[in-house]
Amino acid sequence: MNRTDQCDDENRAADRVADAFRQLFGGSPDGVWAAPGRVNLIGEHTDYNDGFALPMALPQSTLLAARSRADGRLRLHSAQGDGRITELAVAALAPGTVPGWAGYPAGVVWALAEAGHPVGGADLHFDSTVPTGAGLSSSAALECAVAVAYDELYGLCLPGPALARIAQRAENAFVGVPCGIMDQMASVCCTAGTALHLDARSPERHRHVPFDLRGQGLRLLVIDTRVSHDLGDGAYAALRAGCERAAALLGLPALRDLPEGELARALDALPAELAPLVRHVVTENARVGEAVSRLREGNAAALGPILTEGHASLRDDYRVSCPETDLAVTAALDAGALGARMTGGGFGGSVIALVRAGQESAVGGAVTAAFAAAGHRPPHILATTPSAGARRLEPESRQQPPQL
Ligand code: ADP
Ligand code: MG
Repeated sequence: MNRTDQCDDENRAADRVADAFRQLFGGSPDGVWAAPGRVNLIGEHTDYNDGFALPMALPQSTLLAARSRADGRLRLHSAQGDGRITELAVAALAPGTVPGWAGYPAGVVWALAEAGHPVGGADLHFDSTVPTGAGLSSSAALECAVAVAYDELYGLCLPGPALARIAQRAENAFVGVPCGIMDQMASVCCTAGTALHLDARSPERHRHVPFDLRGQGLRLLVIDTRVSHDLGDGAYAALRAGCERAAALLGLPALRDLPEGELARALDALPAELAPLVRHVVTENARVGEAVSRLREGNAAALGPILTEGHASLRDDYRVSCPETDLAVTAALDAGALGARMTGGGFGGSVIALVRAGQESAVGGAVTAAFAAAGHRPPHILATTPSAGARRLEPESRQQPPQL
């Protein structure tokens, strides 16, 4: 699809959410915004260790038609929700008071107000193409759509990383999920055709690294395994606590501060249960640096082995993979993928596979066949491309006809 086709599609999608908004709330929205899901190329479980990551935005996005309200009410509806409109008072928002999906958008409004920004109510209607719970960050897409819409509706003019921090605070403090900053930074700050080199200690200093998949005869497959093992949340918190304990034992502010050259000595000094966590984080940060260097040299194919090494580290040291993600990686590699790894927090979710153009169906077919043979549900597989971050869309109905 070329850029013009893509813009036309986006504008039509913007029209559809604006129409649905009119039917739900009456009258037109003030605007339509989009915030994408993401895949992380490399740098997993590093953000909460103040480390590095390299995500890219997906074409799949959460669209939000929004209109500000002067009466402090917040009305929320999602095409992927329970069909009802949730109505809340902005002044009464507090952590733990909004159950279910509405907690994510309400949390962003709460976080903005709590940070002292002059925000009020709004009518918000969401419609998303980001699969939920697939490790592709539908939660960050939902939050970041609200953050960029509110930024404009209430004239805040906050820079991208500040909006990402607000969205992360909503998820941490309002919804109660202790995620790092990567997902929200990716959703807000990515640009089309690039990956985002993120330093979680100073998100403001992120860099866009050219990632020209097509120009280099490559494709990136996203394989949604459609499994999500329930131990996810508690295990994530325990891993995070383990990393913090290891950093404290080593006398470091965060594991990011352990140089690779000092890793062997540190591993000897640490309790046996913490050493593999530290090995993963330190080697994973190094893999991000390596991947960025290869991309800057114009050698995206060299990412392949880096992805596969990253998967082994998540499987053997960090222990967040599961039989389904391991199977998808092995089947993709056996079918000729240049590299593959699980992406996202783990315990299910999605796998990415870097393949040469033309190999997509061979690799996808092999993964599907391996899943069938193992008795798993068929995975959802799509070829993806590095896409734009959160932005305002122009519904077709609002565009000016060309001047003759
Ligand atoms: P991920 O971010 O990997 O998709 P999470 O568990 O972090 O998985 O977030 C998924 C949750 O986010 C869903 O269970 C739902 O509560 C909420 N969510 C995401 N997108 C939408 C949407 N478009 N409409 C309603 N809820 C959504
Ligand atoms: Mg999420």
